Amino acid sequence: MKERVRFAPSPTGPLHIGGLRTALFNYLYTKSRNGTFILRIEDTDRNRLVKNSDKYIEKALSWAGIIPDESPSLGGEYGPYMQSERISIYNEKIELLIAADKAYYAFDTDEELGRLRSEKEKKGLVFKYDYSTRCSLDNSLSMNGEDIDTRIKKDSFVIRLKVNSGKTISEDLLRGLVHFDNSVLDDKILVKTDGFPTYHFANIVDDHLMKITTVIRGEEWLPSLPLHGLIHEAFGWEKPNYIHLPLILKPYGKGKLSKRDGAKGGFPIFPLSWEKDEGFKEMGFLSSGMINYLALLGWNPGSDDEFFNLDDLIKLFNIKGLQKGGAKFDFEKAKWINQQHLLRLDFNEFEINFPERVIDLKNKYPSKCAEIFLLVRERLKLAGDFEKEIEFFLKDPADYDQKAINKLRSKNDVEVIIKEIEAVVEKNGVDRLKENLSTLSGNKNINFGSIMQLLRISLVGKLSGPDIVKVSVLIEKSLTLKRLANLKNHIKNNLS
Ligand code: GLU
Repeated sequence: MKERVRFAPSPTGPLHIGGLRTALFNYLYTKSRNGTFILRIEDTDRNRLVKNSDKYIEKALSWAGIIPDESPSLGGEYGPYMQSERISIYNEKIELLIAADKAYYAFDTDEELGRLRSEKEKKGLVFKYDYSTRCSLDNSLSMNGEDIDTRIKKDSFVIRLKVNSGKTISEDLLRGLVHFDNSVLDDKILVKTDGFPTYHFANIVDDHLMKITTVIRGEEWLPSLPLHGLIHEAFGWEKPNYIHLPLILKPYGKGKLSKRDGAKGGFPIFPLSWEKDEGFKEMGFLSSGMINYLALLGWNPGSDDEFFNLDDLIKLFNIKGLQKGGAKFDFEKAKWINQQHLLRLDFNEFEINFPERVIDLKNKYPSKCAEIFLLVRERLKLAGDFEKEIEFFLKDPADYDQKAINKLRSKNDVEVIIKEIEAVVEKNGVDRLKENLSTLSGNKNINFGSIMQLLRISLVGKLSGPDIVKVSVLIEKSLTLKRLANLKNHIKNNLS
């Protein structure tokens, strides 16, 4: 049977990287089996809706290359894919459960339930709306003689699942059988007073009607599994397979990764920017790097390889590689993986991904961008490092590493050396600079390392950076000479 798998986020805010990872595993599982990947937006909790977060979810998935086959914007055979557009379907289905005596109307007010709850609490007990209490509460099962249709017209109500005593056994493909005693469950609300279905009800109805074969979601939904099983059973529907993914944990300490951890550790928590929060994309992650890192968060490819693009992952993905325990988020590792992806780009590809980062370079060096990019590429962990790495191509160094200069001065007459370098550049240009400076070193008995360090400090201001001879070729003879003169002046001015 062809797999049909869905990612079903609630638009209660922007997609978190944990949500993106869930979407990714759904996608990899589906595509590795040639199945259909569905995006369904679960927006029935009207109080928690966050404007535009549904659009954000679609945009973030598309950035990541996780493209659905059916979705709210693409449509599909089993639509609509936005739950708020399916209310008539849920109404029809709940009628079936009521008629079959599997669900019932409940009229208890919030005040009354609150009172019962606090009464129990005072005795150290927990109030539950379940088979042991429902007959003494205000619902269609306890009503004597009164007409239900009349009552539902005049009073507000919810509809609850009638959960009988007994045991529920559910299966998770990763964790095996999960046993639950129904006494821990209550008669969960399926339809709320506003007429909207709860997440649990709409989720099960849609999984059935959309012919979902496998549900892959976060571990936080594992406790809902028995309830979901009971709703399927109430309808007499076959259950899909379930896989609950391990949590993404904080980098340090215990517990689930939260937005606060991002703020503390200096990393984003959303794939794309949201309001004032920078996303991974804006920080300089390639979507391929992000996806590669997220795939390794809770999944093991079965080898020591760590570099994968989306197609590799589709080929390799297997649920045997999924781990049960939580996976710690490691930002340094994420950056390292991103670096491996940046290393495989040429300038054009870099520009396509980060057009705004190359504007100044293109203006100043229209024909040399590709070469300059290759020169600094290995130094980029984030695309955001690019501007810093090419800064000296755009402007003369603003300050110099004085400590390095002092060290050189303690052993050499640096002004003389700079003058000698200038003479070499003046005479021969920058094309065979290394050989010419090596000859200078031999002829005048000047330490070659000191020559190169002074050249480097003059061109980039400090001792680190890319191949300095290549830099001087790219900025050409006249700018090389200008910067050598600048350094000479700087040293003269800072002598006393
Ligand atoms: N709407 C739920 C969420 O936001 C979906 C859970 C599920 O996949 O069943 O996570």
